[in-house]
Amino acid sequence: MYGIIDGKAISQAIKDEVKAEAEKLSETGRKPCLAVILVGSDPASAVYVGNKKKACEYCGFDSVSIEMPEETTEEEVLKKIAELNSDENVDGILVQLPLPKHINEDNVILAIDPSKDVDGFHPVNVGNLLIGRDGFVSCTPAGIIELLKRSDVDIQGKECVVVGRSNIVGKPMAVLMLRENATVTVCHSRTKDLKEVTKRADILIVAIGKPRLITKEYVKDGAVVIDVGIHRTENKKLCGDVDFDDVCERTSLITPVPGGVGPMTIAMLMKNTLISFKNRTGR
Ligand code: NDP
Repeated sequence: MYGIIDGKAISQAIKDEVKAEAEKLSETGRKPCLAVILVGSDPASAVYVGNKKKACEYCGFDSVSIEMPEETTEEEVLKKIAELNSDENVDGILVQLPLPKHINEDNVILAIDPSKDVDGFHPVNVGNLLIGRDGFVSCTPAGIIELLKRSDVDIQGKECVVVGRSNIVGKPMAVLMLRENATVTVCHSRTKDLKEVTKRADILIVAIGKPRLITKEYVKDGAVVIDVGIHRTENKKLCGDVDFDDVCERTSLITPVPGGVGPMTIAMLMKNTLISFKNRTGR
């Protein structure tokens, strides 16, 4: 009999903790503030930005939304970031990705002051994570660590397989699991015999962007399975990279899609913004 890791409930608990702390800390001064830049009119990005704004309201944060048209130049985006970097009332700066093709994402990420990079994408923060120093950690993998810890999953000494090596999920995830003393293997599209590797995992974390690729043949009995993928199926339902119905009985714990990893990303963004606020105000 498997258990479900309830990302909705855990993310709610984190947002409530952040809200309570933010309320207490802003009794005698300004509130934490997140600035979000959206370039263009991609409908999915607009929904994500709207959700971030709602989460800020819920947590008692101020939020600044900067909406720039599709034809905005890279220079204009960099100028806006420079303004936000020097604005003392802004704690976090997030640029919603993907950006229009004529804007270089790397240049934009590099322009953000690392102390306001609440997405944890700046190379300074990525480097800090790698060498075990404090800094902002990419929200989705940081959220997965919270899911595991708050579900009492013992990580130390366990075999962990991460499938996917993107800069925002797979790589930071592997480093975080290493920091928690798991024995970590990272797989990718060139891995030979993926099944043989994933079947070794006590904790299997899947971030490949391929709907329902992971079936029960990939999973060891009693494994904990974390599914990062999000896809919309032909009948408009959401599914993950893991075939939940096929895999669940083989697991001890599993995240559903929706309601697993997804809600954690915004909760961790709020947590990072609060940390930046505390760093900046010394409260
Ligand atoms: P990317 O496309 O950037 O990376 C996918 C990774 O999976 C790559 O490293 C790729 O390998 C690997 N991969 C692809 N196909 C296979 C395969 N058949 N076997 C083994 N490895 C494979 O994706 P992201 O990391 O950005 O996202 C992954 C998924 O997570 C997506 O569905 C995305 O929508 C979702 N996501 C969800 C978030 C949330 O908040 N819940 C946040 C971020 C992402 P290679 O490097 O060799 O190309």
